[in-house]
Amino acid sequence: MSKKYKFLITSILVISTQLLWAQPVENVVLVTFDGLRWQELFGGAVDSMMNNPELTKDKEQVIAAFQADDPKEARKKLMPWMWSTVVEEGQLYGNRWLGNQVNCTNRFWFSYPGYNEILTGFSDPEIDSNAKKYNQNKTVLEWFAEKPEFAGKVAAFGSWDVFPYIINDKRSGIPVNAGFRKAEDEYLTYKEQFLNDLQDQIPSPWATVRLDAFTHNYMIEHMKKHHPRIVYISYGETDDFAHDGRYDHYLKSAHQTDKWLAALWDYLQNDPFYKGKTSLLITTDHGRGHSPMVQWKSHGTIYKGSDQIWIAALGPNIPAQGEVAIDQKLFQYQVAKTMAKLLGYDYKNEKEEVGPVIESIIK
Ligand SMILES: [Zn+2]
Repeated sequence: MSKKYKFLITSILVISTQLLWAQPVENVVLVTFDGLRWQELFGGAVDSMMNNPELTKDKEQVIAAFQADDPKEARKKLMPWMWSTVVEEGQLYGNRWLGNQVNCTNRFWFSYPGYNEILTGFSDPEIDSNAKKYNQNKTVLEWFAEKPEFAGKVAAFGSWDVFPYIINDKRSGIPVNAGFRKAEDEYLTYKEQFLNDLQDQIPSPWATVRLDAFTHNYMIEHMKKHHPRIVYISYGETDDFAHDGRYDHYLKSAHQTDKWLAALWDYLQNDPFYKGKTSLLITTDHGRGHSPMVQWKSHGTIYKGSDQIWIAALGPNIPAQGEVAIDQKLFQYQVAKTMAKLLGYDYKNEKEEVGPVIESIIK
């Protein structure tokens, strides 16, 4: 075989492999757990906190459900879907005990700055509070919503009532069902109508955050009905139960959200619109304090470790790598561009340079 011919064959092989491996998906669901620590994700429930009567009122129940001597068993008890489907078929970043680190680049380590960083791809020093101010920055969601192929195909759901401001629904036109908003539509399914009624009947423990069951079920109903191509869902309970100092509720909520994600993943594998062409990215807006342990209740610059976060990924164009154990530093501002890349797009923001794609997430 001539050298030229060999070169040609090799080039064709390389190019076709790249095409085969770089196949974008058509849909992405971005998920966040508000303030769920990497310590519980990778290590399961902390025994000393379950045994602390100040933090855990329902000790027997949570110990029976989540206690295990081996952290690998404990984490599987707490989040069984993450430690079966995601670890076998996807990727998990942020286990600092293995040297794998994910951090916020913003210097505030609380929600609005974190969600802004996730959704725009850069940290903005001007976003220094959780006040209900319309975000001046465009998010990656808005960047997609402006494209004809995604117009009317982007939707967001959140338990916290600040999301309409973070996503700037006024300007972006993206429907944001968050806080105590109800399903609004030309016609409502039976379930949407029921959720709307129930939301009025069940008092929320918090003034600005609803229980995640509403947020999750509103999302699923909307997906079945409208098949949006980009969905963002923010579960909020983990953060609020932690601020309340209820470790038992925090654990139960993390466990329930894991169940919902299992159900969501199952739905995505069965609806022909999503099946085989939808990827998931899962992360958190901030970490929480850890030393002393009771600082778990809060987060922010004065609580050491609150900038430590994690990222998980799962989907047909995401290679199975499981729990990533390599020494590495990733950042929250990389999520937006990575999400766009999964869909085959090169996201840029007109205001700032955005964080680079996490290349290992994409085949
Ligand atoms: Zn918080």
